[in-house]
Amino acid sequence: MRLRNKPWAKDFIAQHPHLLIPQPKEVMGSWNSIFKNDNPIHIEVGTGKGQFILGMAEQNPDINYIGVELAESVVVAALQKTIESALPNVRLLNVNAEELPDIFKSGEVDRVYLNFSDPWPKKRHEKRRLTYRTFLETYERILPKNGEIHFKTDNQGLFEYSLTSLSAYGMLLAYISLDLHKSDFEGNVMTEYEEKFSAKGQRIYRVEAKYQN
Ligand code: SAM
Repeated sequence: MRLRNKPWAKDFIAQHPHLLIPQPKEVMGSWNSIFKNDNPIHIEVGTGKGQFILGMAEQNPDINYIGVELAESVVVAALQKTIESALPNVRLLNVNAEELPDIFKSGEVDRVYLNFSDPWPKKRHEKRRLTYRTFLETYERILPKNGEIHFKTDNQGLFEYSLTSLSAYGMLLAYISLDLHKSDFEGNVMTEYEEKFSAKGQRIYRVEAKYQN
């Protein structure tokens, strides 16, 4: 994700605290009160400019979606789109995924999506990959028993690494696709990166992984 300095971002974010939640740790255990219903909550970690969660939220009005994005200059674009969409079932967080267990209590999130996560190809950066063991522990702490991670990427190296990491963690892997756009998967919502890379002819890989404890 290309970062541009956006000096107006902080003010813009501060003006929309009902959509980009400013103190998410204070909401722990009561996220349903933010959405004013008891519908399941799905989060996308590394949501970028938010195209995926907004598309999913439109397609699934009975599910609440939260986009989690580390970069302020990127999440602000997701905020703009969320405002334009006027969808009631979308919220955003400008936090590092590492903080998730301080934001959601165990079982408060029903599913985690990871889409086109940064590959961090150098071995010394392995711990930053969002499918590294410590991140899998982090997601497990906020998901229910047998919670799921749905992962898509164009990066073959990251996909192979992630299959190994998910499997070594003891997760059950299902619906592995080595070419999502040529598969029979229905209802795929494309992310920004997915549109960009598939337009260049790159294959999209996908897997669903389920915790076993
Ligand atoms: N999911 C979007 C898509 O498919 O178009 C964006 C993909 S972009 C390559 C990855 C995003 O993940 C970046 O915006 C980056 O800032 C975010 N990210 C990386 N590490 C993160 C972390 N630890 N916590 C939250 N967001 C993170």
